[in-house]
This record gives sequence, C-alpha cells and structure tokens, in this order.
Amino acid sequence: MTNEILVQADHICKYFKLGGGRMLHAVEDVNLTIHRGETLGLVGESGCGKSTLGRTMMGIYTPTKGRLIYGGKEVDLTSKKQRFDFAKKAQIIFQDPYASLDPRMTVGSIIAEGMEIHGMYDAAKRQERVAELLDIVGLNREHANRFPHEFSGGQRQRIGIARALAIEPEFIVCDEPISALDVSIQAQVINLLHELQVKMGLTYLFIAHDLNIVKYISDRIAVMYLGSVVELATSDELYANTLHPYSRALLSAVPIPDPEKEAEKKRQIIEGDVPSPINKPKGCAFSSRCPLACDACRQSAPQLREAAPGHFVACHLVK
Ligand code: SF4
Repeated sequence: MTNEILVQADHICKYFKLGGGRMLHAVEDVNLTIHRGETLGLVGESGCGKSTLGRTMMGIYTPTKGRLIYGGKEVDLTSKKQRFDFAKKAQIIFQDPYASLDPRMTVGSIIAEGMEIHGMYDAAKRQERVAELLDIVGLNREHANRFPHEFSGGQRQRIGIARALAIEPEFIVCDEPISALDVSIQAQVINLLHELQVKMGLTYLFIAHDLNIVKYISDRIAVMYLGSVVELATSDELYANTLHPYSRALLSAVPIPDPEKEAEKKRQIIEGDVPSPINKPKGCAFSSRCPLACDACRQSAPQLREAAPGHFVACHLVK
C-alpha cells in the first residue's frame, strides 16, 4: 500500500426515487479514501448500502450528491466520455458468478468483451491475452471455447476475475465475491485475489458481511450501518479496540475457531431488523437497536470523528 490516495468518496449520497414521492436514502454523506495498493474492507448487514456505495465508487451509479475523485481529479459520471474512460480504470467482480456471466457467450468472448469495447489490441492479440488471463486465474486455455454452464461456481468466479482483469484496471470493487461459493472454495478465491493484488499492484474495495474474511484481506475496514460509515480503522485496530456498539455486535457474531473460547464468548445480539432506509430513525440511525441508546442519541446524529489516530467512529458515547 502507498500513501497516494487513488479513490475518494467525497460526501457521497445516493438516493433512489420510489413511487408516491418517497425517496430511498441508500448512501448518506459518505467520506472514504482508498490508497493505491490498499484493500479497504466494507462490512455491514444486507441492505446497509455497501453494494450501492461500491457501485457508486466504480461509476455504475451517479452520486445524487457529493463527488467521486479518482487520482486527484473529480470524475463526472454524467459525462459519457468520462464514464467510459473511468470504466477502463475501475472494474467490479460480482457476488453471483452464476448470474453475472452471459450464458450465450463463450468464456473467451466474455473475457475479451471489455478489451473489444475499449479498442485494446487486434483480434489475435486479444485471443492471446484471453489465454494468458485464463492461466493467471488458474483455468485452462482450452476453457476459452466453453460456456459458463460447464463450470463450477468457483471456476465461474475465476472467469469473472479474468474478465475484470482483462482491461488492466487499477481499482476493483469486489462485491461479496465469495458469498455464493462453497466454504471450501472461498479461501482459494481470496488467495487468488490477494496474489493478483501483490503481482499487479491492484487496489480493492472489498465488500462482505463475513468479518472473518474481511479481517484476513483488508488493510483497513469501514463498518456501514443504514447508509453511513459508523466506524473506520485499520484491520488490527478495529478487532483489538472496537468502539462502535454496532461493530461490537457484528464482531461478537464471528465464530472463534477454539471451541472452549467460543463457548465462553459473550454474544451481543442486535435486537430487531435494520430500519427502512425510506424512514430512518431520528438522531443516531442505530438508536432503535442500540443497547446503550439514550435521549441524546435519539435527538442528534453523531458525526464520524477521529477518536484515536486513524480510528474514526460515529457515536455520542465514545469520547
Ligand atoms: Fe448507540 Fe447512541 Fe452511540 Fe448511536 S450514538 S451507537 S445510539 S450509543
């Protein structure tokens, strides 16, 4: 990881209009920076806005408010040209390797498509690159002529990774890339992503709900709740000195491999469901489920602030 900031979310909000004049506030005023070569883990329950934020940070969605800054320059996603140019730098690996590959295309065409769109190489060189990429992700060159349904889930995710790498991006949003895979395959895909990062100097935003996986692969971790980042710290610091009540509850749900320690561990169950992003609680968004909530929590929303060097938290009770 370098000190250079590659990607920055600057007060990004993403809202979706619903029927009846209602508005879904999926992402609310998020500020995040990702350094070149870094993996930033982004965790939270489903529906917390992490995938929407990931898609906004790689240009699939245009922010409703705020700016996406890449390499020090604002990316205007309303401009077709800027969106197209940015798509060459930022790619995504999707959660579901079954749904994300066109079943009518051969693996070779799927991997070559991005190169064709961006006018990279002639047809013969593209074929050569497809073969190289299949090698890199641990598949056989002969697989280029087959169709996605002929592969297992883990192999399909490798095809998705080869497709993302084809146009030589710098930044990859990994949107729960292993959630749909068997546990036995998950570690292989994580190891592959880690190896590729080291070899190619890639920068990742790694979205997950499994805190075990995020800890292993991330340099820093941001915890999201109901559209906002509530805690951000280095991976080691977050696990050793968890400050936000929501992060503590998420971490207490992570199983410890030692059965004795696991039996002794006190779990913090979060009561209730995540409130609707259409109708958020007043004050702190976590106040309807937080065991420590007091009157002040229900009146004003805490801001994300630096509680210790490099450790940010949004909670009134953390001094
Ligand atoms: Fe809980 Fe209050 Fe902190 Fe929100 S501000 S997390 S409700 S203690």
